[in-house]
Amino acid sequence: MTVYLVGAGPGDPGLITARGLERLRSCEVVVYDRLVSPALVDEAPREAVRIAHEPHTQEEINDLLVRYGRAGSVVVRLKGGDPFVFGRGGEEALALAEAAIPFRIVPGITAGIGGLAYAGIPVTHRDINSAVTFVTGHSSGGAVPNGIDWEAIARGSPVIVLYMGLRQLGAIAARLIAAGRRADEPVAIVSKATTPAQRVLVTSLAKAAAAAAEAGIEGPTIIAVGEVVRLRAALDWIGEGA
Ligand code: SAH
Repeated sequence: MTVYLVGAGPGDPGLITARGLERLRSCEVVVYDRLVSPALVDEAPREAVRIAHEPHTQEEINDLLVRYGRAGSVVVRLKGGDPFVFGRGGEEALALAEAAIPFRIVPGITAGIGGLAYAGIPVTHRDINSAVTFVTGHSSGGAVPNGIDWEAIARGSPVIVLYMGLRQLGAIAARLIAAGRRADEPVAIVSKATTPAQRVLVTSLAKAAAAAAEAGIEGPTIIAVGEVVRLRAALDWIGEGA
């Protein structure tokens, strides 16, 4: 009857919301993303239809949501992090709205906040930054997104949180430095945040891309640029592994 766009949180299955888990446990169809913990998918009723996003295209997913919604099923679209942050949840909601299928949004903890928290990095700290920018380092074609004013971000945002930034990290860092950011500004690269395989590499803007390659850092990664990264020295509450 209704399609729920549910945020699964960044990885640790305990980070889904109470509402999200309740919807998941009573759904008839669950359509889930690659980054969602299998432990969460297991929370759907045994008889529920399970559909993985891959290998479907986004258009096929939109169609599936509309089709199951129209057929009267209770559908949970389980998305990594928050459904409306860089996850195409907005597109899915628009497809449902256009088809006049009732939908609800259950927000989730986004990787750019929760993932950094698991690395002991607060995205804001009163003495350091009163602004933070969440930005994708990856356009749909894979290049550094052209529509982003990196110079303005470099000037105006003391803390920058990059989603999908690993591949273009060298190019992005060079643009930020060219726009006036310090080459030795601290950068944290958090791989597989909030999962048992979490790894955190602290480096500098100038060295970040080479350091990530050398350390063999794998995606997904969330990357924080800015002085808040230094707080990790005192706030790393997790140590090795989430
Ligand atoms: N809607 C998601 C983001 C989807 S885009 C959210 O709100 O978190 C996918 C990107 O999110 C990845 O390329 C990576 O940059 C980031 N990401 C998601 N989960 C992550 C994790 N567990 N560890 C590190 N980065 C993660």
